[in-house]
Amino acid sequence: MAADDKTMGANIAETDGLSADGLFGSGKGLTYDDFIVLPGYIDFQASEADLETNVTRNIKIKRPIVSSPMDTVTEWKMAAYLALLGGIGIIHYNNTIDAQVEHVRKVKRFENGFIVDPVVLGPRNTVNDVDTIKTEHGFSGIPITQDGTLNSKLVGIVTNRDIDFEKDRSRPLSEVMTTELITAKEGVTLHEANQILKQSKRGKLPVVDDAFRLVALLSRTDLLKNKEFPYSSKSAGKQLLVGAAISTRPEDRERVEALAEAGVDILLIDSAQGYSVFQIEMLKFIKEHFPQIDVIAGNVVTMQQSQALIDAGADALRVGMGPGSICITQTMMAVGRPQASAVYHTANYARKYGVSIIADGGIQGIGHMAKALAIGAGAVMAGYLLAGTSEAPGDYFYENGMRVKRYRGMASVEAMGAGGGKRYLSEDGNKVVVPQGVSGTVLDRGSLVDYVPYLMKGLQQSFQDMGHRSVDSLRKDLYSGKLRFEHRTAAAQAEGTVHSLHSYSPPKFGHIRVDGF
Ligand code: GDP
Ligand code: GDP
Ligand code: 5GP
Repeated sequence: MAADDKTMGANIAETDGLSADGLFGSGKGLTYDDFIVLPGYIDFQASEADLETNVTRNIKIKRPIVSSPMDTVTEWKMAAYLALLGGIGIIHYNNTIDAQVEHVRKVKRFENGFIVDPVVLGPRNTVNDVDTIKTEHGFSGIPITQDGTLNSKLVGIVTNRDIDFEKDRSRPLSEVMTTELITAKEGVTLHEANQILKQSKRGKLPVVDDAFRLVALLSRTDLLKNKEFPYSSKSAGKQLLVGAAISTRPEDRERVEALAEAGVDILLIDSAQGYSVFQIEMLKFIKEHFPQIDVIAGNVVTMQQSQALIDAGADALRVGMGPGSICITQTMMAVGRPQASAVYHTANYARKYGVSIIADGGIQGIGHMAKALAIGAGAVMAGYLLAGTSEAPGDYFYENGMRVKRYRGMASVEAMGAGGGKRYLSEDGNKVVVPQGVSGTVLDRGSLVDYVPYLMKGLQQSFQDMGHRSVDSLRKDLYSGKLRFEHRTAAAQAEGTVHSLHSYSPPKFGHIRVDGF
């Protein structure tokens, strides 16, 4: 292409379609299906598209997906696997403080570099004690020290192989433990320790100081996980990242303290309408006492709401009021905003402060994720999309011959009965309940381990069609006006999905609208 043609190409591009400002400046409330992104120039493979993004001001993740803090979506298993796959999960708070903290702890213990506070036993403990740890924590490789605590002299190690055939579970560990130990010296780097672990062919590597006191432990499975899940979201200590939700109520300050103590990376203040004195006070409390923890505040849909929460210290805004699949707020309360307009306007404001936007609710599939990112979101938050995976809480059952899981709005009558009304400022002791959500079922989507890579591969292909190798590059063109959009009429939307066929087989994971139009 000659230089002149290129320049001309740029000019032509800017007279075709609309800039984001032109699209969203019309005063009409738009959502994802109301517009389309015009294609860009492809000069790279889809697999080269880099989806890394700032989910909050200070935390980057490699896959722009966050699981919603709902009691049918995110407990420890969802959070651990989503983090392994490059996203992050936010543990719901429709539970006791202890229960929520336990979920956070489980994620933080799920994968490690150095395990700096390993569970330790003494020689007089019994095989039964190892069984208890296995049931409670899920592992059974236990270092044995002289007095059963960390920083005491290492005398042996017990692993599954030492005890799996042992009939007498009351035997003391001194009689079954392995005492020939391969250890590493304190100060060893993670890389060196991993080399020793590989060469030793053992499952665990205890790290000791000069006096042979135990200071840390390394596990072979973590090395394998690191290889298997190259995009995982981890802190510098190689633990998985995890978030947790709290309400705006003053008594939840105790929850904040307990979650911080458990090592939570992100706190999310969960409120359906975040522009309130309660939220601002909670936000300021967290920022004053736990400045190291990034806070996602919300929900918001306007610039004014965003401004108030950014001024109070928010590191990310959760955007959406009414678009959720289980949500009836807009119908019941007459308040909210169509989701694409909400994302665009809040993102355009928040970017000036380095604050990320999490597009929350109404994400029905890959196309919606791509559009959310194309109009300024840093990541999407998903409920419906993830609720049918095997890592979501709850069991599968059959409904009309289809394998389903239960999925409910946190403001459904059912969830509020279990304590979930806190995000809707519902007052205690008030017997009249006005639900803002419903309870239903979603189809089985298999395991996250297959599903998230599928979603992300699709998203990379979408980036390729838009002509962008990274979230940053997409955003640059969004705000320069180079990224072009167009409205879609109802007929255009109908044309853009399956039509005219007598019958057809939907793709494996669905994601195309077969209802409506
Ligand atoms: P980074 O970008 O420098 O963190 O690169 P890596 O994540 O590849 O990690 C650097 C070193 O730490 C390599 O030797 C990895 O194998 C190792 N590593 C990364 N994650 C883990 C983990 O969870 N457990 C263990 N034991 N080692 C890890
Ligand atoms: P084990 O052989 O039964 O101990 O289990 P694995 O080695 O297969 O898995 C242990 C997993 O639990 C690894 O991912 C560890 O990082 C993690 N873990 C977290 N805390 C601890 C701990 O205190 N002790 C042990 N053994 N593993 C821990
Ligand atoms: P989905 O991904 O299913 O479309 O939407 C999930 C989002 O809906 C959640 O992250 C949350 O913001 C919102 N939500 C969850 N429960 C309720 C509810 O009961 N009512 C309303 N209005 N919104 C809900």
